Amino acid sequence: MSAVPLLEVSKLKKHYSSPKRWLTPQQAPIQAVDDVSFTVSRGETLALVGESGCGKTTTAKSVLRLVEPTAGSVRLAGEELVGLSQAQMRQRRRQMQIIFQDPYASLNPRLSAGEAVAEPLRNFGVGDRKERTERVAWLFSRVGLRPEAATKYPHEFSGGQRQRLGIARALALQPQLIVCDEPVSALDVSVQAQVVNLLMDLQEEFGIAYLFVAHDLAVVRHISHRVAVMYLGHIVEIADRTTLFAAPRHPYTEILLSAVPVPNPRTPARRILLQGDPPSPANPPSGCRFHTRCPLAQPVCAQQKPTLSPREGSGEHLVACHFR
Ligand code: SF4
Repeated sequence: MSAVPLLEVSKLKKHYSSPKRWLTPQQAPIQAVDDVSFTVSRGETLALVGESGCGKTTTAKSVLRLVEPTAGSVRLAGEELVGLSQAQMRQRRRQMQIIFQDPYASLNPRLSAGEAVAEPLRNFGVGDRKERTERVAWLFSRVGLRPEAATKYPHEFSGGQRQRLGIARALALQPQLIVCDEPVSALDVSVQAQVVNLLMDLQEEFGIAYLFVAHDLAVVRHISHRVAVMYLGHIVEIADRTTLFAAPRHPYTEILLSAVPVPNPRTPARRILLQGDPPSPANPPSGCRFHTRCPLAQPVCAQQKPTLSPREGSGEHLVACHFR
């Protein structure tokens, strides 16, 4: 892995303002993503995890500018993407692709599988018709689909095969970064492992970096090199996978991990229940955003926001907590 990050995200914010309604006070903006910073190296998988609504998908889509960041910086291979025109951004998207949770929704039902995979090549004027056909056949074989399936339509494939199609389409332009937005959570458990292993094989072969959004921590443990834990629009902990799963520091990470099934049934599970509902991102708690649900909260936690900072002995393990 290169020491120079492929992707550098700094102080990223995405706030959504609600429309002003007549005779009602203006609502506070929803702080879906607030002051989020991280890097992804070439050939690395960084997983973004957290409860539904924590801002992980909005973060991933802001990186691609599929949603427009409110503030902050997103640099790909050193180039700032925030502020580029849509036409400039379109060119950069050759290097940045996305795999969606629901491949069926992302595939045009009127295009055959071969046409769907060839579409990005056609849009970017890559090769002539014959070269594109050959490239599509090669992509099909790389993702484990038979070349003759190119004439079928998306509804004729199983869920796992459709996700393979989505992967082939994302690979077509040889991107450096693929954002994987819950890519296996809609698949049967038996198929999930095949698709995750395929993504890992492709990463090894082509050196692709993945920003992997997921809530299934067993999948994250298998595929990721590093993990960033999000709570209410903030990153609360980042560490390499081994450290994070073996020795989490942030109380929220501990609670999340306690819900992961234990592989050895003789080892008793020590599940910690998360108290209360997540607060509204339109009105987040003061200080540490987790203080309303944290079993370790002290008065200072409601007053001072903890910074995401390195822990002693490891510059790579960052935690946002006054006491951990
Ligand atoms: Fe809990 Fe306080 Fe740490 Fe926040 S700063 S996680 S409330 S102990």
